[in-house]
Amino acid sequence: MSSSENFLDSVNKMFDQSADLLNLSNGLAEKIKVANSTYTVRFGVRLRDKLETFTGFRSVHSEHWEPVKGGIRYSPFASQMEVEALAALMSYKCSLMDLPFGGSKGALIVDPKKWSKKELQRITRRFTQELAKRDLIHPSQNVPGPDMGTGEDEMAWMADEYKRLHPTEIDALACVTGKPVRKGGIEGRIEATGRGIQYVLKEFFEHPEDYKKAKLAPGLEQQRIMIQGFGNVGYHAAKFLSEEEDSRITAIIEHKGSVINDEGIDVESLKNHFDEKGSFEGFDGFTSDSNKILEKKCDILIPAAVEGVINSKNVNQINTKLIVEAANGPVTAEADQILCKKGVLIIPDFYANAGGVTVSYFEWVKNLTHMRYGLMQRREQERRQTALVDGLEEMLNQDFPRNLKDIITNGATDIDLVRSGLEETMRNGYKRISRKWHADKRISDLRTSAMVIAIKRIADSYYFLGI
Ligand code: NAD
Repeated sequence: MSSSENFLDSVNKMFDQSADLLNLSNGLAEKIKVANSTYTVRFGVRLRDKLETFTGFRSVHSEHWEPVKGGIRYSPFASQMEVEALAALMSYKCSLMDLPFGGSKGALIVDPKKWSKKELQRITRRFTQELAKRDLIHPSQNVPGPDMGTGEDEMAWMADEYKRLHPTEIDALACVTGKPVRKGGIEGRIEATGRGIQYVLKEFFEHPEDYKKAKLAPGLEQQRIMIQGFGNVGYHAAKFLSEEEDSRITAIIEHKGSVINDEGIDVESLKNHFDEKGSFEGFDGFTSDSNKILEKKCDILIPAAVEGVINSKNVNQINTKLIVEAANGPVTAEADQILCKKGVLIIPDFYANAGGVTVSYFEWVKNLTHMRYGLMQRREQERRQTALVDGLEEMLNQDFPRNLKDIITNGATDIDLVRSGLEETMRNGYKRISRKWHADKRISDLRTSAMVIAIKRIADSYYFLGI
């Protein structure tokens, strides 16, 4: 079985285990599980004096809510099955997090490192045309976003191409999220998934019953954390956990080597080195090993690279108490069962990495309202809070503490509001999952709990549609 077949198989197995607990009407579980449609496109782009043919996919998993939502991945290893697995995870993720979207995902078989920016732009615009023809990119039907191998540039090109094809569409910018702020994006989208991981862990450590099950000491500070993948998600998670929570990032594992430091890696220096050299080589604590490092002892392991990295081959060597699945599908279904039996807690992907789609939701709403979040209230809030502080100073005949005065009198900026909305969404998500886990004796792990909640909500929505 290929790795992408395995991935889809894993997602479906995890679905089946949870759906079995729900007593759904006959055939409904199967209907929810399968992808509604997957579109494959092959198109040519003339590059370097040759007509290059590219293959892309867009899978729509569930349309119980529209638009459907999900990133577009650029990878030489992308396949239809991988895209279907990822689209299914998007349905469960949006359902669990109460976001008004169905699930979708796209991919293009391309190695982005092989092409220049200009060439990638031409490829992306051609791909967008193919998607737009079938409403597979559309503000009210299907809204892509970034994923592995894509970022702000690709999203900006897609939005621009869509606008060219629909010049009179006033909501055209809402056809895709993850755009640069100057092109209709939102502050805080780039950091969102990594920031979400920080909020997940902050909330987890508010639940003594849960961290005690994992045999973890209280508090995020000084926890020894290893992260696999130093891209968008891995870098931001490492940065916020080390800089703001005082956690020790003891290993960061990349494709071509890792960095180890038991005292804690200086994440920003490593980022500068990685950006400059394209690898970790030459950085303090560098080792050319990758896979073996994943098996090093730590308190929390955060796989933030690709699917299937913890599998039946290496699962018995994994030496951690808690796994936070920042990547999609990093733990296979077999490995998941073995780890659960050993008492390792796993915070599942479709909850843990939901920060990205949550902020994408804020961006989509911002595009549809044509107004930025802080515009209406900021100055009014500042005026009222300043009046309150002035009043207190006058009544008490004392100066308000300086360090608090600025915090209280400054109105919320867009990034403050985005982070606040993200924190609220992520923390509430964990509370729901944990509550269900403890309330239902048949549920033995966090993944099953999250999946039961997600499936139940999709099933309810089908029920109200009369299906
Ligand atoms: P990215 O392309 O920015 O970074 C991925 C990093 O992982 C790269 O640096 C790559 O070299 C490294 N990598 C790849 N395979 C590896 C391996 N076998 N071992 C070690 N390192 C490896 O991608 P990203 O946006 O950070 O996404 C990472 C994961 O998070 C993916 O599974 C993606 O689907 C998921 N995710 C991303 C977002 C988002 O907002 N970007 C949202 C939700 C989920």
